[in-house]
Amino acid sequence: MKSKTQLTGRVIFKGDPGYDTARKNWDPHTDRFPKVFVFAQKTRDVANAIKWARANKVPIRPRSGRHALETNLSQVNGGLVIDTSEMKKITLNKKCSTAVVETGNRVGRIVDTLARQGYMAPFGDSPSVGIGGITPGGGIGPLQRTTGLISDNLIALEMVDAKGRIIRASKKRNSDLLWASRGGGGGNFGVYTKYKFKVRRAPVKAAVFSVTWPWDQFEEVVEAWQRWAPFTSTKLGSELSVGPKKGGNVSMLGVYLGSKKKALKFLEPILSVGTTTKKDIRYLPYLQATEFLLAPDPVLTQRFSNQFSSGFGRRPFPDKAFKYMREFLEKAEGGTPAGFYFLNWGGAIRRIAPRATAFYWRDPKYYVEWNSSWVKPSHAARNIALARNTRKKLQPYIVGSYINVPDQGIKCSGPVYYGKNYARLRRVKAKYDPQNVFNNPQSIPPAK
Ligand SMILES: Cc1cc2nc3c(=O)[nH]c(=O)nc-3n(C[C@H](O)[C@H](O)[C@H](O)COP(=O)(O)OP(=O)(O)OC[C@H]3O[C@@H](n4cnc5c(N)ncnc54)[C@H](O)[C@@H]3O)c2cc1C
Repeated sequence: MKSKTQLTGRVIFKGDPGYDTARKNWDPHTDRFPKVFVFAQKTRDVANAIKWARANKVPIRPRSGRHALETNLSQVNGGLVIDTSEMKKITLNKKCSTAVVETGNRVGRIVDTLARQGYMAPFGDSPSVGIGGITPGGGIGPLQRTTGLISDNLIALEMVDAKGRIIRASKKRNSDLLWASRGGGGGNFGVYTKYKFKVRRAPVKAAVFSVTWPWDQFEEVVEAWQRWAPFTSTKLGSELSVGPKKGGNVSMLGVYLGSKKKALKFLEPILSVGTTTKKDIRYLPYLQATEFLLAPDPVLTQRFSNQFSSGFGRRPFPDKAFKYMREFLEKAEGGTPAGFYFLNWGGAIRRIAPRATAFYWRDPKYYVEWNSSWVKPSHAARNIALARNTRKKLQPYIVGSYINVPDQGIKCSGPVYYGKNYARLRRVKAKYDPQNVFNNPQSIPPAK
């Protein structure tokens, strides 16, 4: 049956001018050859696209910021990509301390817009990640011990469902959809078009820090970090990265929502470890502090492909885990952004019960991810195997995995991403998308 509904918005079919730019994701490994892209200008364009795709039996992929870290999530060969990135309204309501943002915004644009008006919104390590995809998966970053995850601040949403109907969810109506959208992951229930977040006043100034150590001190630094970062002030967020042996170093970036003097006091246990090669600690107006933490990360010039895997640590790594970490870092390609990344957990994240939102992994001490990366497509297979084999080796020392940093090598991944929330997520899926129209290789199947 041919659809009576026409595609509306900015529509680009395969072969049209702009098609190659339209299909460029952040990670070239995730680029595909969809049949058509719809750059929605308004919610109605999303609804029309869904109806058209279903009538023409074309698979759908929602897309916002193009930062998917696995394949076939926000693009698929022969499919219709419903891209919200041209829907970018941001409305701050100071009286109610809320902000309504259209899902085409990138995280950095929201952070910047709010900071200029004296408000703060949580963010991760990249300004160009889309709020559309990061929010339903959780949204982790250096402010989270104060603000909670990005999804913990989501209080209402607008979504277009598989029939093209506009659905609104909040605590009062469709509260099960709101629950599922706070950690259940993008691409599962429909296409989100608007999110309403609660927001807080930003501090006037904040302390930020960037510290580095030589690569060969990574075991000493990571061990000290794992014993310090989860237990220090909950106003302190710390991202610790360890690069590949070839050309990499150890670096720590983060923020303390308070004075420089106090920041130095809280940082002392980690600054006194090893021999730091750089120690940049500043007390900046809040807007500049966010710029310090969110270095530009443009999408269209990114050359590296990646295989990520992620999990959570409840205890410091034992010697065996350090051995596997070292093996990985020695094998990873040089000159590419491969490595390990840790983020301290606790504080506001832990104050929410694991079943209160779809985001289950509340009690660990830290988050950990690692990625191999490559430029030449012929290097893909061995790098994918490297990251996935490392997961097998590290499995005894971690729990779970973060749906926004997925690894399609994980078998029976539902409980790994969602813990004990998986069964309820499947029931919510059955209610809002019983025919599994919104599916991808890691999506939640409807309950039977
Ligand atoms: C450089 C980089 C840095 C990152 N840093 C962090 C970080 O610090 N913290 C963190 O938590 N995560 C981080 N991530 C992971 C990121 O949260 C996920 O990749 C996220 O899914 C990206 O969302 P997107 O909208 O940019 O991506 P897209 O590729 O557009 O979409 C990703 C997924 O979300 C779905 N989706 C997107 N928009 C919608 C929508 N409107 N409605 C329904 N589903 C939608 C897609 O279908 C797809 O499944 C990072 C990723 C990259 C590449």
